[in-house]
Amino acid sequence: MINGTQWNELTAQQLVRYEALFKLLDEIQSLEDINLICKLIASRWKYFANVTRWRLVLLKEQGFLTVDGLRGEAAITECSELSPWDLHFYQLQYPRLIRRDEPFDGPEIPEIFNGKEIIEIQVLPFVRMNTCMGLLSVAARHEPFTDIDNKFIRIFGNYFANRIAEILFRRQATDALMKKATTDSLTGLLNRGQIIEKLGNQIAFARRSNEPLSIALADIDHFKNINDTYGHLAGDEVLREISRRLQLQTRSSDFVGRYGGEEFLFVFFPCNEEIVLKATERIRSHVAQTPVRVEKPDPLDINVTISIGTSSLEPGSEITAEALLARADRALYRSKNNGRNCINSEN
Ligand code: GH3
Ligand code: MG
Ligand code: MG
Repeated sequence: MINGTQWNELTAQQLVRYEALFKLLDEIQSLEDINLICKLIASRWKYFANVTRWRLVLLKEQGFLTVDGLRGEAAITECSELSPWDLHFYQLQYPRLIRRDEPFDGPEIPEIFNGKEIIEIQVLPFVRMNTCMGLLSVAARHEPFTDIDNKFIRIFGNYFANRIAEILFRRQATDALMKKATTDSLTGLLNRGQIIEKLGNQIAFARRSNEPLSIALADIDHFKNINDTYGHLAGDEVLREISRRLQLQTRSSDFVGRYGGEEFLFVFFPCNEEIVLKATERIRSHVAQTPVRVEKPDPLDINVTISIGTSSLEPGSEITAEALLARADRALYRSKNNGRNCINSEN
């Protein structure tokens, strides 16, 4: 309980300092801001009550961020695993007060809380929807924390964890939206808009760096027959499996997207005419090599092949994306006319 006298002792000056700390937390708009904010918090928190050292552990999308506050400085580290001390309380999900003059059966106390002057450590986990978002440990020097200290620490830590939870939630929502807007829902490949945008960007890049770029249009052969013979659901399964194979055969610096129904566009960069023929031959044979297994309506193996048309932009060429696509399309048409399951190029 906080009595009247203590409240009176919480002077206007102290309140102004507390308020300033909360305002700092409001400044956090993204996880990238955290480092700077923590440094500012550390430089201000040295004035606060009895807190001499503190550690804040935050859950990030991948791994953890640990901030050690000491003498007005913040040491920030990113890690994929927590130290035994942090892990213990992170999993416990329950606040603990550790008095240095009482036996403690938990993990070894970390270096930062090991000074002789430290008489107690308050550990507060912040749990949101069963997930521990953060852990704040604070150490009291010479005197135990007062009720006001404890109250402030709890409110401050909660506010901090809320801020982080909000940012993580917002980022997850934005990522999901971005994924939805840029990928094709059936195949998971880049959608038409996105692969065309990539083509534009990569052409600009090829011009600036004076390096060659190549594209390929690939179209599944007699796909209508597959739909007509085995049904639309089997057709969808084939599309998914072929897309998976195409993605698998695409280097991380290249792109593949669903350009139309059963047609795919590849952007290879840097890549000249000779290399694109090798790359597309690898893709073509990888698709043809193994029949596609579909489970619906009955399990069966379907032989699937693709025809490909390629076109290249050599250094110094002024060709537009549209003209490059038109050339690849004509080359694809020739592959279809030449009996399918083959590659042609037009440059
Ligand atoms: P070709 O070898 O000349 O390319 O013959 P094709 O039968 O593959 O070409 P066509 O253009 O005649 O037919 C393409 C078919 O692809 C028609 C269309 O219904 C089907 N298709 C397009 N999108 C999808 C899809 O998302 N799922 C399924 N199951 N079929 C699709
Ligand atoms: Mg086709
Ligand atoms: Mg087609």
